[in-house]
Amino acid sequence: MPRVFSIAIDGPSGAGKSTVAKAVSERLNATYLDTGAMYRAVGLFMLRNGVPLADRDAIAENCARAEVDVRYGRDGRQRVYLGGEDVSDAIRTAEASLAASAVSTVPEVRRRMVQLQREIARGRAVVMDGRDIGTDVLPNATLKVFLTASMEVRARRRHQELLEKGMDEPYEKVLEELRRRDETDTKRAASPLRRAEDAVELDCSEMTLREVADRIVRLAETAIGEGA
Ligand code: C5P
Repeated sequence: MPRVFSIAIDGPSGAGKSTVAKAVSERLNATYLDTGAMYRAVGLFMLRNGVPLADRDAIAENCARAEVDVRYGRDGRQRVYLGGEDVSDAIRTAEASLAASAVSTVPEVRRRMVQLQREIARGRAVVMDGRDIGTDVLPNATLKVFLTASMEVRARRRHQELLEKGMDEPYEKVLEELRRRDETDTKRAASPLRRAEDAVELDCSEMTLREVADRIVRLAETAIGEGA
């Protein structure tokens, strides 16, 4: 019998959620779902169609036209599609990050994304990362983790990641962008970023991402065992 469980990993931008969630999913033989990629695809849709990001009504009206789809390649990697086009790389720009943050404040967008996320999770072993997984998408998750790190550590990590991808953004700009996203993500009315009461909080400022993944795998094995 394959095990069915769900692990929610939430936290602010740049805390290392996706790296950690990916590693954890591989070790537990579970499907990894990066929910941020879905909001990024909606953001990209608005950018490409000239929908002003400050116009929430226009975003709500247009979001039904954004056909977002998640599929898994032969290598098990998640790919995100927009209207049938693979946009997995196109959604990784700074512009798409800010667009994602803007569209994610609109309840209509969230409703659609949450529905899709729950469909993907149904009947599977999943590790999901995002902002509202433990509080809204999977309130009964087997394990909830809230991953944090100081703003400076997060900005340094993101800066390094961009450098490795050949994008030489000034550190100050990366820091400012994170600050803006934190502000939007925590202050929005619709499912703001916050720790679920029953989530385990891990501050990974002083830990390597490998150590964080080890820790979560141990917590998950215990939680899965208790639920069996
Ligand atoms: O995680 P990532 O940085 O790719 O997410 C992009 C944006 O999508 C975040 O800044 C956040 O505003 C939004 N998001 C969200 N809820 C999620 C995942 C991401 O609101 N579950």
